[in-house]
Amino acid sequence: MPTAKLGDPRTIILPDELAGKLPLAPGTEFRVELDAVGRLLLTPIRPQEPPSRETPAESIRRKNLSTGIQSVKGVGPKLAEAFQRLGVTTVEHALYLLPHRYEDRRELRNVGALRHGRTEVFEGVVLSATTSTTKGGRKNYEVMVGDETGSVILKWFHFNAAWMKKSWQVGRRGIFTGEVSQFGHHREIHHPEVEWLSAEDDIQAVMARDPATYGRIVPVYPLTEGLHQKTMRQVMKQVVDTFAGDLESAIGRDILARHHMLPLSQAVTEAHFPTPDTDITRLNSGTTPSHHTLVFDEFFYLELGLAMKRRGFTMEEGIAFEVTHKYTKPLLKMLPFSLTHAQRRVLSEIKEEMMVPYPMHRLVQGDVGSGKTMVALMAALVAVENGYQVAIMAPTEILAEQHYLNIHGWCDSLGIRVVLLTASLKGKEREGLLEEVSSGGAQIVIGTHAVIQERVEFHSLGLGIVDEQHRFGVLQRNVLKKKGANPDILVMTATPIPRTLAMTVFGDLSLSVIDELPPGRTPIKTRVFSESRRQQVYAMIRDEARQGRQAYIVCPLVEESEKSELKAATAMAEELQTDIFPEFRIGLLHGRLKPEEKEAVMASFKSGEIHILVATTVIEVGIDVPNATVMAIEHAERFGLSQLHQLRGRVGRGSHASHCLLVASDRLSDDGVKRLRVMEATTDGFRIAEADLEIRGPGDFLGTRQAGLPEFRVASILRDGRILEEARREAFTLVERDPELRLPEHRRMKEEMVARWGGRLELAGVA
Ligand code: ADP
Ligand code: MG
Repeated sequence: MPTAKLGDPRTIILPDELAGKLPLAPGTEFRVELDAVGRLLLTPIRPQEPPSRETPAESIRRKNLSTGIQSVKGVGPKLAEAFQRLGVTTVEHALYLLPHRYEDRRELRNVGALRHGRTEVFEGVVLSATTSTTKGGRKNYEVMVGDETGSVILKWFHFNAAWMKKSWQVGRRGIFTGEVSQFGHHREIHHPEVEWLSAEDDIQAVMARDPATYGRIVPVYPLTEGLHQKTMRQVMKQVVDTFAGDLESAIGRDILARHHMLPLSQAVTEAHFPTPDTDITRLNSGTTPSHHTLVFDEFFYLELGLAMKRRGFTMEEGIAFEVTHKYTKPLLKMLPFSLTHAQRRVLSEIKEEMMVPYPMHRLVQGDVGSGKTMVALMAALVAVENGYQVAIMAPTEILAEQHYLNIHGWCDSLGIRVVLLTASLKGKEREGLLEEVSSGGAQIVIGTHAVIQERVEFHSLGLGIVDEQHRFGVLQRNVLKKKGANPDILVMTATPIPRTLAMTVFGDLSLSVIDELPPGRTPIKTRVFSESRRQQVYAMIRDEARQGRQAYIVCPLVEESEKSELKAATAMAEELQTDIFPEFRIGLLHGRLKPEEKEAVMASFKSGEIHILVATTVIEVGIDVPNATVMAIEHAERFGLSQLHQLRGRVGRGSHASHCLLVASDRLSDDGVKRLRVMEATTDGFRIAEADLEIRGPGDFLGTRQAGLPEFRVASILRDGRILEEARREAFTLVERDPELRLPEHRRMKEEMVARWGGRLELAGVA
């Protein structure tokens, strides 16, 4: 656009009273220009980055904290190596390596008063020591220890016999620590800790000699080979005594005060070595004021990073789409159903964001079968109406094909050109399609993540739709962005992500939830069967098949080897065909088949030629056969609950009642059974996701590494959801006031944030 300048460009300074209303820092300078039609243009001028103003005291503290762990007294090269395996190379790292639990050793107990289920500390004398053999032929080492009030058995299941014999001599006196269990009339402690006392040792002297280990609430640390609990404690005591005082929070005082935070040095000190009056239960649940302080600290920098990332996105220029209804209206007329309330709401959230001139980054979350594809198609049509191309990326070839099949019929009727790019596409055909994409002739392009990322040049990409199912990748989104001039991005996921997790992992995305299923779905009945009741499972499948319905039998993913997975599925299909279901046709679907083969198998299942489909987990994604009413899942215990939920979403798509039969090992533990029973109890994906998260932890759940987030040292997303929300509110407010954290009082905060994120912010061009 030609710019008519008004004399020389002038500079104005943003007054303080306006700064609060604009997403800019007070004191920001602007260049003022007039454009061709006489509008006033204000362009913020970025001042030179002020030189670092680290004070001398700060500098000393920083240097102290970066002291190498090997400089701590008693830490030699071997120990330093062990520490390194725990991620500790400096004393600062050590300060943040917190105990994972605590033991109450404030007082010694009499042996007669040891309590079942508690970790107790007591003094005693060795009364006997022997190797015993169990019925199963395993060897145990057994010691009886006592005092004048009673006796207790100490037991080892793994031990070095010679070493044990030498140290556990009858008459020897020691201080013992361990968790007490009651077996009938006697009490046992397995793998206790011991500190030997010499004949002349007086208890008080021993306790004074090792204040990290006795006479207090004692920290228990995560360990690694070559690093023993006792050594760890002694090193930690020194580190904390010497260096904790150098910790000083960079978070603003007003924020710290609002959330009743302890000084960082105190919080760290007390998290390692709690004061004697601390409540041991709160310590072990991580809910003391010192834990609270450390958790807030951690979440705050996480959210500060996310807030700046989000800011980075919204500062970028994007496409302002217009909603013309050219294609969307006709499509709605053609559909044999009307959109659900939830679909319409989410769609209008998407459209609204597509209309503003910033790039959209939105996550659409909806349970299996909630109709995400239709929402995605409608959004795609808005982009096409505006003359832009749309990329739809799926995690697997099968799913990409499925999207293509679902969409291209509608698009053909609307006169929109859709192409499917697959990895197997070769030669002229491939060249032809790629040419169509780069010339803009192909309006909607469907393919796997890999295919679209690697090979494709777009003419004018306006919207990227990423179907993540339950795998997420921040990187993928960013690669897609670069395929166009800041296209809008829509990420679709079927995994109901618990709210706290969504905030953490997708803090830089806006969120839309399709929380309603289309009407007329029949709920799926789920039952857990043990291996030995397999015949009942077959009977139910036979029953359905006789009534003309179809079934899936899913074999688990054997992670160590794709080959053995294949073998298991193949063997199963053969056995079912010859021995169990000779009267029905069995098909086999697995990841090693060529795309044409997969398609052929799917087509014959869809047409009803195949009655029972044996499949590996490739079917978890997006296969749609309404006549399939039973799904049996083999080795159900090997799957995550959310994955089971995804899988069973393949049935219950028609008007007939559907069943999901989970076949689990006979040897499954009570906990394992309890876990599977969650599937019987609910079809609510959110509840299942919460249960999954509780069992597996967030890292496993999402593959946090892939999501590109800093790892938590103290915080737990499950336990600390409320603190996360508080930290988020503070961080986002701060970034609204000072978008680039330029104010001098925010300098250390920004430095700390960048350090914690360790390069991972670059993706968004923030740091
Ligand atoms: P998701 O991808 O969320 O698992 P799909 O988009 O594949 O779900 O939709 C599942 C099925 O429901 C498809 O056959 C689709 O045509 C159908 N469907 C989508 N929206 C509706 C609706 N509003 N009413 C009825 N059926 C719908
Ligand atoms: Mg889908």
